[in-house]
Amino acid sequence: MNNLTDLSKITALAKRRGFIYPGSEIYGGLANTYDYGPMGVELLRNIRNLWWEEFVHGRDDIVGLEASLISHQEIWKASGHTSGFADALVDCRNCKLRMRADHLLEDYIEKKGKELDVTKKMEVISPDELKLAIESLKVEGWSEVKMDEFISAFYVPCPNCSENKGDKWTKVRKFNLLFPVNLGIVEGDQSLAYLRGETAQGMFINFMNVTASTRVKLPFGIAQLGKSFRNEITPGNSVFRTLEFEQGEIEYFFDPEVNNWEELFEGWKSSMWDFITKGLGIYAENLRWRIHSDEERSFYSKRTEDLEYKFPFGFKELWGLAYRTDYDLSQHEKGSGKELRMVDSQTGKKLLPHVIEPAVGVNRLFLMALSDAYCEEEGRVVLKLSPKIAPFTVAVFPLLANKEELVSKAGEIHKTLKRVFHATVDARGNIGKRYLSQDEIGTPYCVTVDFDTLTDNMVTVRDRDTKDQERVLISNLIPFIQGKMESWGK
Ligand code: ATP
Repeated sequence: MNNLTDLSKITALAKRRGFIYPGSEIYGGLANTYDYGPMGVELLRNIRNLWWEEFVHGRDDIVGLEASLISHQEIWKASGHTSGFADALVDCRNCKLRMRADHLLEDYIEKKGKELDVTKKMEVISPDELKLAIESLKVEGWSEVKMDEFISAFYVPCPNCSENKGDKWTKVRKFNLLFPVNLGIVEGDQSLAYLRGETAQGMFINFMNVTASTRVKLPFGIAQLGKSFRNEITPGNSVFRTLEFEQGEIEYFFDPEVNNWEELFEGWKSSMWDFITKGLGIYAENLRWRIHSDEERSFYSKRTEDLEYKFPFGFKELWGLAYRTDYDLSQHEKGSGKELRMVDSQTGKKLLPHVIEPAVGVNRLFLMALSDAYCEEEGRVVLKLSPKIAPFTVAVFPLLANKEELVSKAGEIHKTLKRVFHATVDARGNIGKRYLSQDEIGTPYCVTVDFDTLTDNMVTVRDRDTKDQERVLISNLIPFIQGKMESWGK
């Protein structure tokens, strides 16, 4: 396991080897946007496909959906996003740095740690709140007034300039995260819509469409993978927080009189944990659950927990799990004036189901996969990615690039392997360099065709993690690699 404390090595590798590039780079860049290169797009797709396999194709009780990214403004009014979907902002009056106030406070509390005076007299922040914030390093749910009080009581300095020692901040104020879009070409005649701020609302507004057009029976889920947009202002940390990102969300509907929500909640916790550890092959010691406090949790939620991953910049939310009661469907009933109740085919009862929502960010899974896999050992940099998600599963090498018989045999093997795996051919430089190059992009198996291959029909398979080499019959290569993939573990 690596001991990275920042992302610099990962972002350098990601740029150099074609995983992620800064967005709009040749025009000077556009903050908080990124483009995925040839390796990145494969890794991202593999993660996305695995999620869909696991939670849609792999289950009989979940169906998929793909809703529009541009959506009616009333959706976001009913869901509470136009009024409540806001971050608290603060600006440094000296250097003009704009920051999320909660992040400013949390970073400060983390840095100061035990030095902070928990007994400090405050007007609006209670001693318990202060203690909790210091212990949990979280100020989520705090009002602007509380954040203002903390900044002035503790003289929280600007992290970007030395002039502002805590006395040159603007007041904390709220900033809505939704991206408005104006539809229509005639000025003054345009109507306001929003780019969706989460995929979840698509499942609620299509609830009746799905129940009427399929044979779903409670409990069941509707899943969606797709882009969401938030006008985030926090800089840094690569693709952890971006303006445009991809979410994988499931709304799991049930009748609370038939199913015990606590049992369903626990079931979801283990499915999520298994997906990360067994599906994506992540070290379990880098994961933890964090329960939201009463203050942090939305008023309609009975329980919310975040699965957090230990990124090089600390434990951060990866995947949220919330029991949202029937809040969303009832809000849309009120907002649209349409009934959103279904008849349970087993009990004959008409009801507004309750919902449990697991919501993950695919780009955060991507960054987690890179961070967890990054390893420097014995003079090489290796990405120990699970073979299920590595950009290439196999690379085929002709021992010598100028020997036609080896090159054509390697081409033949590549063609066969390509039908089953994502495979590539590499004939540049010497074998050692090719291994190093494939290690850096996380290719788990390298197959070398040498002169003996031409007579014994065997190739050398080299394992990325152990560097062990085995001679394998070409006719047995596919099951051999499949077997290794099945038994892979870090
Ligand atoms: P955070 O507290 O980090 O802003 P959130 O609680 O607002 O996240 P949710 O609304 O619960 O996030 O969204 C579900 C998931 O979507 C998150 O767990 C995260 O993985 C991902 N996500 C949210 N915002 C972003 C973003 N700006 N960029 C990338 N991923 C994001």
